[in-house]
Amino acid sequence: MITDEKPNVVYWLGSSLYLNITNKCSNRCWFCLRNFKQGVGGFNLKLKTEPTIAEVEAELEQVLSMRRWHEVVFTGFGEPTERLDVLLDIARWIKRRSGSSLVIRLDTNGHGYVLNKGRDVALELCAGGISKVSVSLNGHDSETYNENCRPTFEDAFGTVLDFIGKAKAAGLEVEISAVRLPEVNTEKIKAIAKALDVSFRLRDYIQCFW
Ligand code: SF4
Repeated sequence: MITDEKPNVVYWLGSSLYLNITNKCSNRCWFCLRNFKQGVGGFNLKLKTEPTIAEVEAELEQVLSMRRWHEVVFTGFGEPTERLDVLLDIARWIKRRSGSSLVIRLDTNGHGYVLNKGRDVALELCAGGISKVSVSLNGHDSETYNENCRPTFEDAFGTVLDFIGKAKAAGLEVEISAVRLPEVNTEKIKAIAKALDVSFRLRDYIQCFW
């Protein structure tokens, strides 16, 4: 149940701090939590407007010293690379404030190169202080990916694989994550992860009960 009606850009679960910098996404996954819920863990993630860098930093300022955070994660109810410059600016600000020991992770749909044409997204993420990326791949081939994720452009499956390869080559710690769905062959996704030499994490799909 959402206890705070004001939309949250910064929220937390356990010792992880999460950033919800956008609600835009180049996928329209049928299982996306935002289709069914207002947020997670009592935080409202349905943004009314996209926050400015100053607004995100002001919210962060209030919570960064609240406890010893294990990691900061760009995630939320949208695709963070939809706002790559904002993401990079905030990541650099966090590094300046918290030093090199705080891990910054990006949860992404892997569409960064299509959303930011002409830029070397993986290298920019590395330079910005991101050390880990978790790339969601909810299809074992192009067909199942398109059915589940309903991307807004052609060959999204190939784009995600390309992103994973580039992220790995750039020196980022890369993980493929997939939601356990009956139509997805997770063994095939695991094999893709192995072939690309990245780790794999299977997540349970949390259905909504009203
Ligand atoms: S990629 Fe993530 S944020 Fe985007 S629609 Fe799918 S589940 Fe939702």
